[in-house]
Amino acid sequence: TLDGKTALVTGSTSGIGLGIACKLAEAGADVMLNGFGDVDAAIARVSGYGTRVLHHPADVSDAAQIEEMVSQTRRDLGSLDVLINNAGIQHVAPVEQFPVARWDSIIAINLSSVFHTMRLALPGMRERNWGRIINISSVHGLVASAQKAAYVAAKHGVIGLTKTVALETATTGITCNALCPGWVLTPLVQEQIDNKAREHGDAARATRELLMEKQPSLDFVTPEELGELTLFLCSDAGRQVRGAAWNIDGGWVAQ
Ligand code: NAD
Repeated sequence: TLDGKTALVTGSTSGIGLGIACKLAEAGADVMLNGFGDVDAAIARVSGYGTRVLHHPADVSDAAQIEEMVSQTRRDLGSLDVLINNAGIQHVAPVEQFPVARWDSIIAINLSSVFHTMRLALPGMRERNWGRIINISSVHGLVASAQKAAYVAAKHGVIGLTKTVALETATTGITCNALCPGWVLTPLVQEQIDNKAREHGDAARATRELLMEKQPSLDFVTPEELGELTLFLCSDAGRQVRGAAWNIDGGWVAQ
């Protein structure tokens, strides 16, 4: 159980981050949420498990706002024991047409933010000699797809960063791992389905084609399943899982 532990989940007002935040709260952790959109709905949902739930509006593309969020987590919840780096965005375009500003923001949000939260969270974890860092990479941290240059580069970077921190903490009670999901039906993926549907007709067909192209199970991974895997990595049994890039992808990278 995570009774008495505190967690910070970036990008947890929607999708995977919200699913993971719910599981952490269900297991007993106090949770600092982060992200944009329907903040009140997210707070209400995660609060349903009876632990303390707060929200910080940091834009994780900005190091100063991340510093503010990490100190506020420590100040208001008492510590930062479980760090889930989940905030992420996508942009789909061929590399020659990839908007430079989108490249910069994807590298900032999907990669550099992971460096900042970890460097800021580690000193407190070292003091207590306990910590769990779980970075939400992607199958795109292990293999590429066309037209996702910035996302693929950032997600590969997250896995390298995860391995480095795993080595730097190897003799401590802190573990650092990456999860590599395949398709999860969240707003981030719904947008890609909607774009496909606009090209050739209906949404059901677009969904089927999206899965058939990459995901052999022909079924989506769910935020709840990612939450369960997160709880395993947070448990005592997960103690020697270090520096892993753990795919949960319906068979995507087995091909
Ligand atoms: P989502 O769009 O549903 O949620 C993204 C969350 O990040 C939201 O809470 C949003 O408010 C927040 N966010 C976006 N920009 C932010 C910023 N600058 N600062 C702070 N918060 C910000 O997306 P999702 O599908 O749940 O994706 C979550 C993570 O999982 C991402 O890192 C994504 O790359 C990764 N992932 C998703 C899939 C998938 O199929 N959905 C697969 C593999 C990996």
